[in-house]
Amino acid sequence: MTVRIQLRRRKSGAEFVHPMDPMPRTAVLAPGFQETKLAHVFPSGWNEAADHFQPASIAGPPDLLRRLARDGVRPKHSVVALVYDGQEGLTSADRELFWRTFGVPVFEELLGAGNELIAMECDAHDGLHLVGDFKDLKSGTGTCPCGNPAPRMARHRRVEELVELLV
Ligand SMILES: [Zn+2]
Repeated sequence: MTVRIQLRRRKSGAEFVHPMDPMPRTAVLAPGFQETKLAHVFPSGWNEAADHFQPASIAGPPDLLRRLARDGVRPKHSVVALVYDGQEGLTSADRELFWRTFGVPVFEELLGAGNELIAMECDAHDGLHLVGDFKDLKSGTGTCPCGNPAPRMARHRRVEELVELLV
């Protein structure tokens, strides 16, 4: 016997911010995000419902994206790697694999424990722009070709290191 439990969807969780504006139709494959018209949340990962949603962009943790690359899932617009602070970011091997398999731009986003956005990669793909509280930090990385004046952090840099720069 199969028991199906229907969970009522609550308007809770963090807002998902896509690195590209306007935001494409995105499947967010991680728990704790708000569902919107364009961002549908699939907390348990890629499944039939996600496939049916036909997202142009897919956002999820790196290990999940690696699996989708192997499984032949092919978003048309972009993929967004959701990296939690303290976890390993995308390696150059990941970027190569994603480019070879998905054939669309890959963006990395750095998130705090509550899914709050700390920094995200722009389409210049030269580091991650800091957002929110970190935006005014003088990191001295120079102006980004994308035009966004917000300072950038190098890929793989930890937030603790940035906090040290603030004091
Ligand atoms: Zn930029």
